[in-house]
Amino acid sequence: MSPVIPIHAEATACASAPVVRTERGQREVFCGLTGIIWLHRKIQDAFFLVVGSRTCAHLIQSAAGVMIFAEPRFGTAIIDERDLAGLADANEELDKVVHKLLNRRPDIRTLFLVGSCPSEVIKLDFSRAAERLSRTHSPNVRVLNYSGSGIETTFTQGEDACLHAMVPVLPSLPTSSPKRLMVVGTMADIVEDQMRRLLSDMGITQVDFFPPRNSTALPEVGPDTVYLLAQPFLADTSLALEARGAKRLPAPFPLGVEGTTAWLQAAANAFAVSADTFEKVTQAPRQRAQAALARQRPQLEGKKIFFFPDSQLEIPLARFLHRELGMTLGEIGTPYLHRKLMAEELAWLPEGSRITEGQHVENQLDRCHAEAPDLVVCGLGLANPLEAQGLATKWAIELVFTPIQGYEQAADLAELFCRPLRRRIKLAA
Ligand code: SF4
Repeated sequence: MSPVIPIHAEATACASAPVVRTERGQREVFCGLTGIIWLHRKIQDAFFLVVGSRTCAHLIQSAAGVMIFAEPRFGTAIIDERDLAGLADANEELDKVVHKLLNRRPDIRTLFLVGSCPSEVIKLDFSRAAERLSRTHSPNVRVLNYSGSGIETTFTQGEDACLHAMVPVLPSLPTSSPKRLMVVGTMADIVEDQMRRLLSDMGITQVDFFPPRNSTALPEVGPDTVYLLAQPFLADTSLALEARGAKRLPAPFPLGVEGTTAWLQAAANAFAVSADTFEKVTQAPRQRAQAALARQRPQLEGKKIFFFPDSQLEIPLARFLHRELGMTLGEIGTPYLHRKLMAEELAWLPEGSRITEGQHVENQLDRCHAEAPDLVVCGLGLANPLEAQGLATKWAIELVFTPIQGYEQAADLAELFCRPLRRRIKLAA
């Protein structure tokens, strides 16, 4: 059966607010260094220098192993095994590594110093190091810093920390400029191009994407900027943009047909696009996506899904899978719940939805087994044991690496959830 989706979908508050449980305990989530894997692909003239341990080096190299064969744009300065007699030594060492790197790679325009967990690293003052190195290498290279440490960040928060570090260096949009739209959050280039085309077909041409593909083409920001979040995990970036005068357009996230339509509608409203134009521009891709989802719906309808907290995409994904594909929602875990950024999504969840913010992994595993879901979305560390116990799993990390936003990707997103269910059926046969 094909889902009926209103053309101008509007969030309608569910009869009762979702039940939110907050948990603290052992977490099974990647650290923010993971973000480098998609950020280095996006910002093509940037380099990410992790100052960390061999564990950090191993994490980013194994997670992005393919880059080892290309000219990588990330590396690790390992300092945890050094006898740090004084911080001056560590700073000197860091400066030497950076000089060597920048001499060898004159194409680098922005260098991110990325902090990590080891105590030797925590002692370093990265913002001072970044200022010092920026002065030394100005004007060819700008050096910025942020932390990807597992103590301070989970998985997708690495992107929030990186973009937050960039906001202060965005040029100012001159006062009384025509209104500009900033789309905030990394999306695959192909998705960005599709979104730009749809917006431009509606007449919205003053559009910037942040982060930009080229770090020397930073978007301007100011009181005439309105912005749309393309990713839900950008709370700090959002606050920093608001401190520069930008205004957020409240919207659900562009996942699935409904999410994409409402997200585009928020931009259309801000730029006074007529209902006719909006309809004309979105109708064909919307109908194509609806037809593709209708073909996938029988594989997912009525199946129960359980989310462990990982990427902060869990709530928009649950909304999409329930409303457009008929899945039943078990517990929806999220590392953090930003109620303001998530308001439109929460209003779209069915009555009685159960959300857990934070994690106590042992308790959550017990609840997962008790619920016996058909599909579990979780991190790599939990997937193998759960599969061995007979549960079908989906790696949350794939949802961040795969282009999933927008109309053209709605079916690909659904397919990511169909595949593990088909595999389980085959294994059982
Ligand atoms: Fe490095 Fe800490 Fe991440 Fe481990 S959790 S990889 S030590 S930053």
